[in-house]
Amino acid sequence: MTDSLLDTLAARLGPAHVLTDATDIAPHLDETRRLYRGQAVAVVRPRDTAEVAAVVAACAAARVPVVAQGGNTGLVGGGVPFGGVVISLARLDRVRAVDPLDATITVEAGCVLAHVQQAAEAAGMLFPLSLASEGSCRIGGNLATNAGGTAVLAYGNARELTLGLEVVLADGQVWNGLRALRKDNSGYDLKNLFVGSEGTLGIITAAVLRLHPRPVSTATAFLGLASARAALDAFGTLRGRLGSRLTAFEYVPRFPLEVVLRHLPGAVRPLAGDHSSYALVEISSPDPDAEEELLSRLSELIEAGLVEDAVMARSAAQGAALWRLRESLSEMQGHEGGSIKHDVSVPVSRVAEFLERATAACEAALPGVRVCAFGHFGDGNIHFNLTQPVGAEKAAFLAEWPRVNRIVHDIVHAMDGSIAAEHGVGLIKRDELPRYKDPVALDLMRRLKGALDPLGILNPGKVLRPAEGGPEAF
Ligand code: FAD
Repeated sequence: MTDSLLDTLAARLGPAHVLTDATDIAPHLDETRRLYRGQAVAVVRPRDTAEVAAVVAACAAARVPVVAQGGNTGLVGGGVPFGGVVISLARLDRVRAVDPLDATITVEAGCVLAHVQQAAEAAGMLFPLSLASEGSCRIGGNLATNAGGTAVLAYGNARELTLGLEVVLADGQVWNGLRALRKDNSGYDLKNLFVGSEGTLGIITAAVLRLHPRPVSTATAFLGLASARAALDAFGTLRGRLGSRLTAFEYVPRFPLEVVLRHLPGAVRPLAGDHSSYALVEISSPDPDAEEELLSRLSELIEAGLVEDAVMARSAAQGAALWRLRESLSEMQGHEGGSIKHDVSVPVSRVAEFLERATAACEAALPGVRVCAFGHFGDGNIHFNLTQPVGAEKAAFLAEWPRVNRIVHDIVHAMDGSIAAEHGVGLIKRDELPRYKDPVALDLMRRLKGALDPLGILNPGKVLRPAEGGPEAF
C-alpha cells in the first residue's frame, strides 16, 4: 500500500519532491524544542493547491495520515508526524495579489511571515502580525495556530487578520473561500473553523489577509517598575490615554532581563538602576508625533509614581536593540539549564495576581526554582516559564514538568484563563485539555473533527486524543 502510494505521489509531484531518504526527512521529524521525535514514510513538497489536493486525495484513498508543515517553528509538537506523510507547504510561496483599496494581501500558505510583511510594506501598508520566529514561520502555520505575538494588543491575532481562506479538505476537495469581505453573514463562518485548528480539520493553501495603514511614526521605551501590579497600573493608564496607538506592552521581570543581559552577545542594560519589573512599550501614530506623545505620557507616569524610571529609544537602531532584548528572552533562557514552559492567559485585569500566585506556588513546590515569566502583558498572555535551580540536575528538574503543569494550570483555570494562549494545544497540552475545557465544548470539537475528517487522516492525535479504536488510532 505504501509503495503504491509513494509511486502515485512521485508520478504527480515528480520524484524530486517526494523525499524518503532518512537524511532528507530528518528535519521534518522534530521541532525547535526537540520534545518529540516523530517518524514519517515520506515528506512531499507540492508546488500548488492542485498538488496538495492530489496528495490528500491519494492519502485518503490509502488511509494514510497527513501532517501539514510550514516553517516547523511550532512549540507544542503539533507538526511532528507519527507515521504517514508530511506535506511541506514551503513551495507554495507566492504573493498572489495586494489590493491597497481593499486593504488586503492574498498569499499562499508557504509564504514566510517576514516576506508577507515586506510585500505589504512595498505597497505602503502594514501587515502587523509579528513574532520572534517571523524569519522562518510560514503564514499557513501562523493561521493554523492562530498565532499571536507582540502586536495583538492593537491589531488582534492571526484570526482577526484573516478575511478569507483556501483549504484542502480531508477528501482532497478544495474549498475556495478567498474572499475579501468585511461583512459576510451568508451562513456559518467556515474560515474560523480552520484558523487555529492546527492542521486537524483541513490544509490551508492560501489566505486573504487584512492590511493596515503604516504608522507615520513609532516610538519605543523601556520602563523600570516597582512590581507587576505597578506594570498593570501603568498599562491601564497608557491604554486609557492612547487607545489603539499603544501597539505593544511587553512585560519583563528582573530575572529574565538579567538572563538576557548575561547571555545575549552585545546586549546593553537599558536602565542604570535595578527594578523589580520592566516593560517594553511601543506606540504608533498616524502623525509624526509618536516620540513627543510617548515622552509626555512617560512624564505623567513618572510624576504619578507609576513608573520608577524610563528610557526612550532615540533612533531606529536603539528601538531595535530594545526589541532584541525582549525577543531573545526565550532562547537565552536555555543557557541557564532546563526550562519548564507554560503559554497561558488570564484576563488582563488579573495578570499581576496570576504572576504572584503562580510564582508563590511554584517556589513553594520546587525550592530554588527560578521563575522566568514574561510576555504579552497587554493581552493577558504570559509565558510562565521556570528555570531549574542553580546546580540542580536538568533531567530531575524536567521530570517535575507534570507536577508543575498541574499547579500552574489549576491556578490559570481558577482565574478563568486558558492553558493554551497562543502556541496551541498540539501534543503537549492535548491530555491536559479534558481537565480544563468545558465538556460540551470538547464534545463539539470531537463532532466537528468527525464531520470534517471522518477517516481521521488529518494530523491524527493532535489537539484531541484519538478515540479508542476510532479511525485516528492508526
Ligand atoms: P509549523 O510549526 O510548521 O506548524 C504548526 C502547526 O500548524 C502544526 O500543527 C501544523 O500541522 C499546522 N500547519 C502548518 N501549516 C499548515 C497549513 N498550511 N494548513 C494547516 N495546518 C498547518 N507563536 C506565537 O503565537 N507567538 C509568538 O510570539 C511566538 N514566538 C515564537 C518565537 C520563537 C523563537 C519560536 C521558535 C516560535 C514562536 N512561536 C510563537 C511559535 C511558532 O512560531 C508559531 O506557532 C507559528 O505560527 C508556527 O508557524 P510555522 O509555519 O512554523 O508552523
